[in-house]
Amino acid sequence: MSSDSPVQSTRIVLASRPDGEPSADNFRIEAANLPSLADGQVLLRILYLSLDPYMRGRMSTAKSYADPVEVGDVMVGGTVGEVVESRHPKLSPGDRVLSYSGWQTHAVENGDHVRPLDASAAPLSTALGVLGMPGFTAYAGLLEIGKPKEGETVVVAAASGPVGSAVGQIAKIKGARAVGIAGGPDKCAHVRDELGFDAVVDHRSPTFADDLKAAVPDGIDVYFENVGGAVASAVFPLLNTYARVPVCGLVAQYNTTEAPEGPDRLPGFFRSVLTKSLTIRGFIQTEFVRALQADFRRDVAKWIAEGKIAYKEDIVDGIDNAPKAFMGLLAGRNFGKLVVRVAEEEQGGDGFSCRWS
Ligand code: NDP
Repeated sequence: MSSDSPVQSTRIVLASRPDGEPSADNFRIEAANLPSLADGQVLLRILYLSLDPYMRGRMSTAKSYADPVEVGDVMVGGTVGEVVESRHPKLSPGDRVLSYSGWQTHAVENGDHVRPLDASAAPLSTALGVLGMPGFTAYAGLLEIGKPKEGETVVVAAASGPVGSAVGQIAKIKGARAVGIAGGPDKCAHVRDELGFDAVVDHRSPTFADDLKAAVPDGIDVYFENVGGAVASAVFPLLNTYARVPVCGLVAQYNTTEAPEGPDRLPGFFRSVLTKSLTIRGFIQTEFVRALQADFRRDVAKWIAEGKIAYKEDIVDGIDNAPKAFMGLLAGRNFGKLVVRVAEEEQGGDGFSCRWS
């Protein structure tokens, strides 16, 4: 392909901002010509797009830790791509890279801003999940803030997803007892039987709060907060003195537009923080990247190889299916790490062909 020939990218842009739950109208699919390459740039054919709960925040102008996507701009997101053309000295056509190219089929990127991937070391899509940002979030948040000790009880919700599944399995590696919370019998069975959690509780059950209490006879020492809402309300009374709560995400609240009904629970919350000497610490994974990224890659790759960490991917085909899949993610309809297969990997070399899913 010549650098003079325009390449078209099919992309999903933010058409309007959602009020509450996103709908199909908030997205638009369009085609755009990409610029020809400047020195240092690469043209990528995107193979996989990661869909993650944080993208809901980028659709909104509410104050956050990152700027929103502008209306009319491509939705942001982590991607795995193949270099099609390169004007970067260290990248060649055929190389597979991790980039942040968003919801589109092709992209022009600065070659210094992409990370080469070794397709023979792990399936490429895992760079977006267990060996990527979500896995790192679990590793850093649990070990730096949760600090689970042998024999302690660690509770995590969204336990079949990429963050929660890694949290529970790493907790077990550290000698703790892992209790998962998940939605529905299939996810619960997976968390218990495939991921090896010690216990699992279904938050959709009408007896959820009692079931959770029964599953943590010694109370809760670490609550890795992924969801907020009713799950957090059931967990908090069960926290032990000196419990640690890494606040990672509040996915149950991302689509809410009003404060919940009922009495103001803030005074009771602070009373618990005081009387139980709780440590509650929010974090964005990027703060730990410099210090922990190398340890994470080494440890988690080893744990996967040793069979101590399993993972599940939920692969959806085609960029045009990204909006629907993303809306399902916020409602719990994904089962495992949600990834869009934007294009088929061309078979070649000794790339992995099997994955647990
Ligand atoms: P998941 O793939 O696990 O998807 C989200 C899951 O949340 C759903 O599948 C669903 O699982 C659960 N969920 C949705 N709504 C509710 C609800 N009302 N009550 C209880 N559970 C609900 O997501 P990730 O593993 O990618 O992310 C998990 C959390 O981590 C999110 O909050 C995300 O924003 C956060 N995060 C934070 C980062 C940081 O730097 N702080 C970085 C990455 C992720 P189920 O059906 O089992 O309930």
